[in-house]
Amino acid sequence: MSKLFKRTKILATVGPSVFGEEKLKEMVYAGVNGFRLNFSHGTYDERDEQIRIIRKYAAERGKSVAIVQDLQGPKIRLGDIKDNHYDMHTGDEIILDYACQEHDGGNVLPVQYNLAEKVKVGEPVLLFDGKVEGVMVEKTSPTAIKIKVENDGFVMSRKGINLPDTDMGGDIITEKDLADIEFGASRDFDYVAMSFIQSADDIDKLRQIMISNGSTAQIIAKIETKKAVQDDETMEAIVKATDGIMVARGDLAYEAGAEIVPIVQRKLIALCRQYGKLCIVATQMMSSMVDNPRPTRAEVSDVATAVLLGADVVMLSDETANGKYPIETVKEMKKVILYTQDHSKILPLDKETTGNYKNYDAISRAVVSLAEQIKADIIVAATKSGATAAAIAAQRPNIPMVSVTSNPRVAGQLALYYANSAFVRPYDENYAFDEVQDLKNAGYLKIPEGQDYLTAVIVSGLRDAEGGTNQIQIRRV
Ligand code: PGA
Ligand code: MN
Repeated sequence: MSKLFKRTKILATVGPSVFGEEKLKEMVYAGVNGFRLNFSHGTYDERDEQIRIIRKYAAERGKSVAIVQDLQGPKIRLGDIKDNHYDMHTGDEIILDYACQEHDGGNVLPVQYNLAEKVKVGEPVLLFDGKVEGVMVEKTSPTAIKIKVENDGFVMSRKGINLPDTDMGGDIITEKDLADIEFGASRDFDYVAMSFIQSADDIDKLRQIMISNGSTAQIIAKIETKKAVQDDETMEAIVKATDGIMVARGDLAYEAGAEIVPIVQRKLIALCRQYGKLCIVATQMMSSMVDNPRPTRAEVSDVATAVLLGADVVMLSDETANGKYPIETVKEMKKVILYTQDHSKILPLDKETTGNYKNYDAISRAVVSLAEQIKADIIVAATKSGATAAAIAAQRPNIPMVSVTSNPRVAGQLALYYANSAFVRPYDENYAFDEVQDLKNAGYLKIPEGQDYLTAVIVSGLRDAEGGTNQIQIRRV
C-alpha cells in the first residue's frame, strides 16, 4: 500500500514551462499535490485560466490539490538598467532613486521601492541577489539613498535587492499585495503565502486583511528574512501565529547567510510538527534539473533529508516554472520520496506535539498508535474544519490516510498535509466509511496480498461540527 502513496507532498510553481492544458494536466497526473502561482509575475487573466485548468484535471484525476497564491511582499527590485548591464567597482558611490524614471547609464539607478523611507545609514544593501554588496552612506533626497559599493561586480535590470538589517517596521504588505489579496479572496485559492515576513505581527495583520476581504484561504509565512530567524522565540511566535510556513531558502540565504539555512530548516520543521502547522521546504531542491534530465546526488540527498526531518511538503520553483524538464523533475522527486519513506522512519521529535486543541491532540495520538499497533492499512479521518486530519498528520503516521470532508476548501488545504489524501463528500454519519468503500471499489485503495479486506482505523464525530471528533472505530472494508 505504502508504495502507492507518497506521504511527503510536492508543491510545484507554475511558470512558462508548464503553461497550458496539456502540461498542467501532466503535472497533476505525475503526482503534484499543490500548485504555487507566483504573484511577482503574470496577469489576473492568466491566473484565472491556470486555476480553471488545475481544478479541471484534479477533478478528472479524482484527487484534491492545493492552489497557493504567493504574494510578492516587499521584494525590492531595481528598475530597468540601460543596455541591461551596469558595472560597479569597490569604492563606487551609487544612488538608488525611487523617483528615477529612466537610467541614463550614470550612477543614479532606478529602484521599484522607496528605500529612503526604511534604510538607515550603515545598513547593508545587497544588489543582484547578493552579488554586489553595498552599505548605505547617506539619504540624498526623500526618495534616494547613496550606497558605497564594497566589491567589483555588475547589475542587470529588475534584479533583487536584499536589506538584511533593515527593519520594515511591520510595514511589509504593499499596495500591490493588497490588490492581489482582494483579487485572491474572490478566487479559488486554498493558501496565501506571504513573502518577507519579519514577525508574528506581520501575520496577524495579514490575517485581519484577509478576513475583511472574506478570504477562506490559510496563511503560509515565508521565512526568508534575517529578522524572522533572529532567535528561537521569534521563530516559535511566527509558527504559532501562522497556519503554515515555507522555509524560503533562496532569499533566506542572501539575507542571513547560506550557512544558517540547514539549522533553521531543522528548527522550523520541528516547530511545525510540534504545533501541528504545515511545513514546506523550498528552493533549489532539484535546481540542476532546470537544464538536465537527472538530479545531482546532492539534490537527491537534500530532498531525502527534508523527508526524513518530516517536512509536509517539498517545493519546486524554477525547475517547473522555467526549466526544460518540469514533468521529469516531479517524477524524480516522487521517486526519492517513495524510496526514502519506504526504507527509513522519520526522525523522532524531542518534544511532544502541542496542537491548538487538547482533544484533537489526544485523539490523533491514540489513532496513530492504534493504527500502527494493529498494522492497519489505512487511517481515515472525517473532518469538518480539517483540524482532526491536521492533528493526525502532525503525528507523522507511517500509514497512509484518507480524510473526508464536505468542504472543498478544507480538502484543498489538506492536500498538502503529510500523508493526507483528501476527498470531498456531502456529510452524513457514515460518509468516511462510505468514501473508503468507494475508493476500494474504484481500485484506488488496493487490498494487500493474502488478505481479502482492508483494515481501516476511522476517526469521526457524531455531529458534523468543529471540535466534535469523539469516535474511533476499527473497520474492515
Ligand atoms: P521566492 O521564495 O521563490 O518567491 O523568492 C522562495 C525563496 O526565497 O526561497
Ligand atoms: Mn523569496
